[in-house]
Amino acid sequence: MDSIVIIGGGHAAAQLCASLAEAGQAARVHLVCEEACEPYHRPPLSKTFLKADDQALQPHRPPKWYEEAGIHMHLGDPAVAIDRAARTVTLRSGQVLPWAELVLATGSRARRLPGLGDAPLDNVVTLRAAGEAQQLRARLAQAQQVTVLGGGFIGLEVACTALALGKKVLVIESAPRLLGRAVSPQLSAHVLRTHRDAGMEIVLDARSGGFQVEGARLASLEVNGERRGVDLLLLGIGGTPETALAQAAGLECADGIVVDARMRTSDPAVLAIGDCTRFPDRRAGRALRLESVQNANDQARTATATLTGAARDHDALPWFWSDQGGLRLQMAGLMPPEGTPGLTTVRRPGPNDSAFSLLHYVDGQLVCVESVNAPVDHMMSRKLLEAGRNPPPEVAADPAVPLKSLLA
Ligand SMILES: Cc1cc2nc3c(=O)[nH]c(=O)nc-3n(C[C@H](O)[C@H](O)[C@H](O)COP(=O)(O)OP(=O)(O)OC[C@H]3O[C@@H](n4cnc5c(N)ncnc54)[C@H](O)[C@@H]3O)c2cc1C
Repeated sequence: MDSIVIIGGGHAAAQLCASLAEAGQAARVHLVCEEACEPYHRPPLSKTFLKADDQALQPHRPPKWYEEAGIHMHLGDPAVAIDRAARTVTLRSGQVLPWAELVLATGSRARRLPGLGDAPLDNVVTLRAAGEAQQLRARLAQAQQVTVLGGGFIGLEVACTALALGKKVLVIESAPRLLGRAVSPQLSAHVLRTHRDAGMEIVLDARSGGFQVEGARLASLEVNGERRGVDLLLLGIGGTPETALAQAAGLECADGIVVDARMRTSDPAVLAIGDCTRFPDRRAGRALRLESVQNANDQARTATATLTGAARDHDALPWFWSDQGGLRLQMAGLMPPEGTPGLTTVRRPGPNDSAFSLLHYVDGQLVCVESVNAPVDHMMSRKLLEAGRNPPPEVAADPAVPLKSLLA
């Protein structure tokens, strides 16, 4: 039987297994995972998982499901080489798997801090996978104070969790605002105010003046000319796509494995999905790399269509969420960069004082909706954007008008 080999054990790989099983193709599938367990949900790792020792990983599906579906599992045995001419993948154990089609779902890795070197420091952690989350949880339990470098989603989620655990928290961000690459300035300002009110110390526009290492620990770092002691440091400075195997196999990469609208790489027999890809986005009109559960799942569905002879172009609305203390942030569509000509915003009050949505238009066209503690508005916004509806701003901003009614 012609095998489909999937390399990766995260959200994209899990969804691809599920979709291929639905399409009756499970028996062809070999899943090659670097991690020693079945795929699990990553979002809880920066939230509930850190709060207590009894919080377990949340698997996408129980081990039995893979067994019953007939999927061949290769856990804890990463792929180390791809031979495109021979159509084989070699695993670390030495096992060689032949494939008719290969899918790379290798995700991304947390970025290390240039200048800190590669040697691990006892009190410096990153967060991508279960092993790192377990390490962070154990160190959080010991720490009095937590420093988070980077005011992005993962950094702020961990900062909120640490605050909820009673730690003193310092967030250091080099940009002039939090979440600057992903959300509007209005939302950044709300998040900043909320976290500061909750007792988090946040330094923006931070200029690093270097680090002081003592033995195997980071003792302090210098921020804006001030030396700050470090008890525990989380590096939350973004991720880099895991493209090493693809590059070694001669596949085109450009800050991500380059794929077409059907998730095919520069070799049509090799597909790539999830965080590791750079793909053409119809709405944005350019190639993007996204790190979100929605993107991983939807790209897996598009790849399934390609692999099962029902190929169609990828056309999914990007959406994502982040839970930060009392803030549930939900974004539908991509926020245009600051300064985009014709960008206007209206605010729609939510069902209570802590809830609202920001609707962003470019040249009068609705392109993105950011919701804070307003899940119904988020769901309806996704439907509006997917359907290409364009409610007049003054109507959409009126809380007396249900967004659902604008879908009709
Ligand atoms: C802590 C945390 C919180 C998050 N919270 C949210 C959230 O609230 N909302 C949201 O939308 N997104 C969130 N994300 C992002 C989301 O989890 C990712 O976008 C998603 O997991 C991407 O799926 P993926 O399958 O592409 O990559 P991953 O889930 O990262 O999986 C990649 C897998 O490939 C494996 N791999 C790599 N190389 C090899 C190899 N050579 N051989 C075998 N296996 C290999 C890796 O070990 C890993 O298991 C969060 C991410 C993290 C880390």
